Amino acid sequence: MKALVYGGPGLKSWTDVPDPTLQSPTDAIVRVDTTTICGTDLHILKGDVPAVTVGRILGHEGVGTITEVGSAVSNLTVGDRVIISCIKSCGHCSNCSTGLYSHCLGDEGASGIGWVFGHLIDGTQAEFVRVPYADNSLHKLPEGVSDDQGVMLSDILPTGFEIGVQYGRVKPGDVVAVIGAGPVGLAAIATAGLYGAASIIAIDLDENRLEQARSFGATDTVVSGAADWKEQVLALTDGAGVDVAIEAVGIPQTFTMATEIVRPGGNVANVGVHGKPVDLHLENLWIQNINISMGLVNANTTKMLLKLVASKKLAAEKLATHHFSFDQFVEAYDTFARAAETKALKVVIS
Ligand code: NAD
Ligand code: ZN
Repeated sequence: MKALVYGGPGLKSWTDVPDPTLQSPTDAIVRVDTTTICGTDLHILKGDVPAVTVGRILGHEGVGTITEVGSAVSNLTVGDRVIISCIKSCGHCSNCSTGLYSHCLGDEGASGIGWVFGHLIDGTQAEFVRVPYADNSLHKLPEGVSDDQGVMLSDILPTGFEIGVQYGRVKPGDVVAVIGAGPVGLAAIATAGLYGAASIIAIDLDENRLEQARSFGATDTVVSGAADWKEQVLALTDGAGVDVAIEAVGIPQTFTMATEIVRPGGNVANVGVHGKPVDLHLENLWIQNINISMGLVNANTTKMLLKLVASKKLAAEKLATHHFSFDQFVEAYDTFARAAETKALKVVIS
């Protein structure tokens, strides 16, 4: 089969690799019908994620059709159309039973990023992928939900919702700021509304992204390059600061920005993957009683979010701005990496 293979920092190719095979009775093999590219793939390509080594097939998002199931797979069958969760999880170990799928104690590989496709196991930017613990790691797609919608439920929507909105403890009436209006930030904006946020301030360098943010539910926008960006945010909260600041970029400045605009007693939810150390000024923050949360997505809300997509309460398909075929993979990466020029949100490959 063909797959998008990591060749070291800055290097990737769409090339021939062996087909995946069942390695455990709980595995399934899925033909990838649709996949996409994440900000995290760009971090990997820069060399920011050294655990990913040369030869790895990248990608952790996808919709596909099951072509083979192991003997212990009980809920799925060949021909089922499924969402491939970005994280594989057994569903019943002590961590999975508390919803912490990102730290599954199953017998395959390490926890944490070891459980995300395209890191320590081969990913979904390929014609076929092996999915461990298929019963828990795959979700059947109902009729009427498109591939474009389904592929946003592998990672982007659960990440914005779980690590941004849920970890940030958004509640009715809150003023929420989302720093970074890329696909993950937009997912946080779209799902903060589900918890009744009174206003959502989107903060980004890119005016196009801010315009997109409004269409996903942002009530106000602030250009983070403006000298008075902080004053603008504070003015929108009558000087109090926001209840919840969600960081969805992954650079030290934006983490600091989040801590600078949150009100005393408020929550900073860091979603971004940081390749460089951040400054954490506990000497200033402790006296403000600020809660700081962070983490790897668990994708334990995919089924719930899928219901909202199916009932048209969540317009997942709006994130799909560009479409490519599998043999245009390198071009798709280029379009995604130059999002400021191309205005791409998610590039969909099918
Ligand atoms: P993206 O690169 O498409 O979007 C990032 C956005 O941040 C862009 O719109 C960019 O213009 C904006 N930005 C850059 N510098 C800024 C600044 N100084 N101020 C304000 N905005 C700025 O990325 P994405 O796909 O939306 O992902 C966002 C982050 O979430 C990445 O770090 C990604 O790795 C991370 N992520 C985390 C998890 C998790 O499990 N925690 C899962 C998926 C992705
Ligand atoms: Zn588990």
